[in-house]
Amino acid sequence: MLHKFINALVNIVYPKKCLACKEKLKIHLQNELICAKCLKNIKKNTPPFCSSCGRHLVKTNFAKNICPSCLRGKLHFDRAFSPYTYKGSIKRLIHEFKYKGKDYLGSPLGAMMIDFINEYNLPINYIDFIIPVPLHKTKLREREFNQAQVLAEAIAKKFNKGLLTETLTRQRYTRAQADLEINERLKNVKGSFSITNPQVIKGKNLLVIDDVLTTGATSSEAAAALKEAGANIVFILTLAH
Ligand SMILES: [Zn+2]
Ligand SMILES: [Zn+2]
Repeated sequence: MLHKFINALVNIVYPKKCLACKEKLKIHLQNELICAKCLKNIKKNTPPFCSSCGRHLVKTNFAKNICPSCLRGKLHFDRAFSPYTYKGSIKRLIHEFKYKGKDYLGSPLGAMMIDFINEYNLPINYIDFIIPVPLHKTKLREREFNQAQVLAEAIAKKFNKGLLTETLTRQRYTRAQADLEINERLKNVKGSFSITNPQVIKGKNLLVIDDVLTTGATSSEAAAALKEAGANIVFILTLAH
């Protein structure tokens, strides 16, 4: 890809900069992407987790095992997991990955998700297929690559799982979710996914991959489409939430 080539050149010509804060990196380690300060500022998602959306549960919700937001509205996936909180350095790295064409970040970010799967013993053995949340073709043209697919490829390869990239498709071009309230988000994505060959996923356990889970509306709608087509269990794994 052209932008990959350009990035490689930039790294040779100019001193490397921290991808999160843009400060010059003092030591040039081969895989160093961010500075020590920004590395410290990455916030891990820690247990106890909400049994639906996977967010860290604050003390008052321990007993219920579910967060107030999930209590209010049922999401269609069986359970979601996220290793990081969407702020600070992780937010900036995801931004660079998603909107600045830095597809090479897929490998280290994918590795962070793989570490989480191993650390918390996520039921990866029960998963039949891994599916990235698709982008609508107009958005794919704008961004050149689907960031969720890059992450999904890394995870599928690591755990030797089949990757389905054509089964779940995005039918409608939806408005950017970031500008919308939760109820509007749910309405905005309603019916936006469809399944091309339902027989492939019938009775199967699926792990759906995306970069960020905000309200869970997109993941929930994707899960609804998969379940309607006959999927058994649908788990969601996003890098951050
Ligand atoms: Zn930094
Ligand atoms: Zn929740």
